[in-house]
Amino acid sequence: MQLVLASKNPHKLEELQSIFSSLGVQVISQAQAGVDVDVEESGTTFEENALLKAQAVMRSSGLPAVADDSGLCVNALNGGPGVYSARYGGEGLDDAGRCRLLLENLRGALDRRGKFVSCICCCFPDGGRIEARGECLGSIAYAPKGEGGFGYDPVFFLPSLKKTFAQLTPEEKNAVSHRGAALREFVEKLRAKLDG
Ligand code: IMP
Repeated sequence: MQLVLASKNPHKLEELQSIFSSLGVQVISQAQAGVDVDVEESGTTFEENALLKAQAVMRSSGLPAVADDSGLCVNALNGGPGVYSARYGGEGLDDAGRCRLLLENLRGALDRRGKFVSCICCCFPDGGRIEARGECLGSIAYAPKGEGGFGYDPVFFLPSLKKTFAQLTPEEKNAVSHRGAALREFVEKLRAKLDG
């Protein structure tokens, strides 16, 4: 069975390929499937955006397509930046700039709790759908720490490990992260569908 990944991010492709190879599922890129769609993430929830991306790629490729949508939700920002995590502060900012902006916007905040959320959606040409969601609770550090990961990893602190995501190895992060949790739930549901 082939699944098209509705993303142009090569890191996501590698991550999914290694996880799904054990299920006998081959994950291919949009380019390999011969589709070039740029989906506007116009949804107001992670679930909606993952569905929009998976549905668009499934429709143009005619193959099952999987997408994920993720972001950071901070209590003191009423759940923001949320679905706008990748675009927080506008086009001009890079990951480090977005982390700085987040720290500035939380200056003086007493409640620094937040969570990462990851939603995965897979759409099948027969109308079937599999959805999975993972969350990871933590808090926003007072300054960036660590060199690993990407995005908001240097400022996302896990009280249980006393480390930021950026201070974890990829394996350690996967064991506790929102995306790791969502992927494990997704794999279980896909396995059940393939077996059934
Ligand atoms: P997406 O590619 O539309 O799902 O955007 C997700 C955005 O949320 C990324 O650009 C990051 O800013 C942030 N994000 C999601 N997951 C993580 C993570 O594991 N670490 C750090 N930042 C993340």
